[in-house]
Amino acid sequence: MNPKKYIFFTGGVVSSLGKGISISSLAFLLQSRGYSVTILKLDPYINVDPGTMSPYQHGEVYVTDDGAETDLDLGHYERFLNISMARFNNATSGQIYYEVIQKERRGDYLGATVQVIPHITDAIIEKVKYAAEMTDVDIVLVEIGGTVGDIESLPFLEAIRQFRLTLNPEDTFVTHLTLVPFIAGANELKTKPTQHSVQRLREIGLQPDALLCRTDRPLPENVKQKIGLFCNVSAAAVVDALDVGTIYEVPVQYADLGFDELVLHKLRLGKRKLNITGWRTKVERYKNIEKEITIAICGKYIELQDAYKSIIAAFTHSGMENDVRVKLKWLNTENLTENNIQDELADVAGILVPGGFGERGIEGKLLAVRYARENKIPFFGICLGLQCAVIEFSRNVLGIDGANSTEFDEDTKDPVIHLMETQKSVKVLGGTMRLGSYPCNLKEGTTAAAAYDEISINERHRHRFEVNNAYRSRLEEAGMCISGLSPDGELVEVIELTDHPWFVGCQFHPELKSRVAKAHPLFRSFVTASKTYFNDKNQQS
Ligand code: GLN
Repeated sequence: MNPKKYIFFTGGVVSSLGKGISISSLAFLLQSRGYSVTILKLDPYINVDPGTMSPYQHGEVYVTDDGAETDLDLGHYERFLNISMARFNNATSGQIYYEVIQKERRGDYLGATVQVIPHITDAIIEKVKYAAEMTDVDIVLVEIGGTVGDIESLPFLEAIRQFRLTLNPEDTFVTHLTLVPFIAGANELKTKPTQHSVQRLREIGLQPDALLCRTDRPLPENVKQKIGLFCNVSAAAVVDALDVGTIYEVPVQYADLGFDELVLHKLRLGKRKLNITGWRTKVERYKNIEKEITIAICGKYIELQDAYKSIIAAFTHSGMENDVRVKLKWLNTENLTENNIQDELADVAGILVPGGFGERGIEGKLLAVRYARENKIPFFGICLGLQCAVIEFSRNVLGIDGANSTEFDEDTKDPVIHLMETQKSVKVLGGTMRLGSYPCNLKEGTTAAAAYDEISINERHRHRFEVNNAYRSRLEEAGMCISGLSPDGELVEVIELTDHPWFVGCQFHPELKSRVAKAHPLFRSFVTASKTYFNDKNQQS
């Protein structure tokens, strides 16, 4: 067997340069040349996983099939590569320290003083090796979270340095993602921040093989020469990663710049034919779409769109397949009232209520559901969105005024949504929700079954509450169809309304399985319905 190849991605100067997208794009190109790949994300924070972090801190929590709550970059990996990630594709300082401390308590270190070097660094190396072993791919890409110079990242960079010593030089590649800002006052592109961040990297003992320079304009040859000289890389390995219109253009840009070829050359891997014609066409076509519809996202973290990364992506994929650009209108449901709802939602083609936790903004979400139901506007409720749809229906159709979820009112007389039986004994919050992929059976002839074009599905979950079975028959008698159930029939997974063109709620998170190669069926179908609604409405007026 040929030795495995390792590509490490570090970041410098500022955060949010799009390391996750860069690494996914490179991995996609290598995959498109016939190499098998996986990506490991190393996160320097002390939380064991992001599951307990507020969306304001961390954005979306990405759930894998095997039930891990992980960094949102894993979403990019899956969407670009069209493969599923697992728990071992993400490791945090918290997780690593936790494991080392548990070993220490067991006495596994046989009297040694337990230290960052070698114990923590060894544990980091083990994580990289484990991901390599579990996937058995040709190339393992490793993204190191944070920015060079952060105290937290140091053990990770040190571990990479040590690990590289055990490998042949031609089996590893280090990419540093950096920023080359244009300073208008000086009318100049500035290379100093890049020089400094590479200096920091080299102090730690890591010499980058390539620099991906984020910039808003092409880097002239002399600027590349200068960066190359000061950073000890050849000018050819200074790649100008220009801002692009959609993130899915990045692989195309890298391919055109020959970035993947540069990597293959250093890794002594054969060039093999690159086949990204399908992707290229899709992106080009999407860029030129003129038709646009607006869909309202009625949530509470709207000022922070990182919290809805996968939902945004699922709409892009569905837009690609429906030849329509989906514009998202972000509505904070805390500000939604009976008085302004008409103004806010009058011109939208669809309404989505996403997942969420806690009572804040709930009444506004219920208003949005009602508006969609009564005005026959396509409605999609995800997780908490399904729960809101059930509460709204119970209150306004069944006439159960106080219907609620015990999440918002523990003593409600009519808990139409309540804690799952398995959740009642849970005391610890981290990693204890109903997490990961579970099977669900759909009812033939329903909107959901038509969207999937099959009736046995598997979807990813992240919740503690569920529809209360005691209210099921009343809901059904009044026109709410339970179109998806867990195989034992105990958990409501999908609901819909029979006398509505498209009104679907699901207890799982379909957005986590939408990919560029194939939009999620429910999102695609929701966008189709919204497009139809928009067309019909415009024809009438
Ligand atoms: N808070 C709800 C629950 O725990 C919904 C969770 C979600 O939307 N992810 O069941």
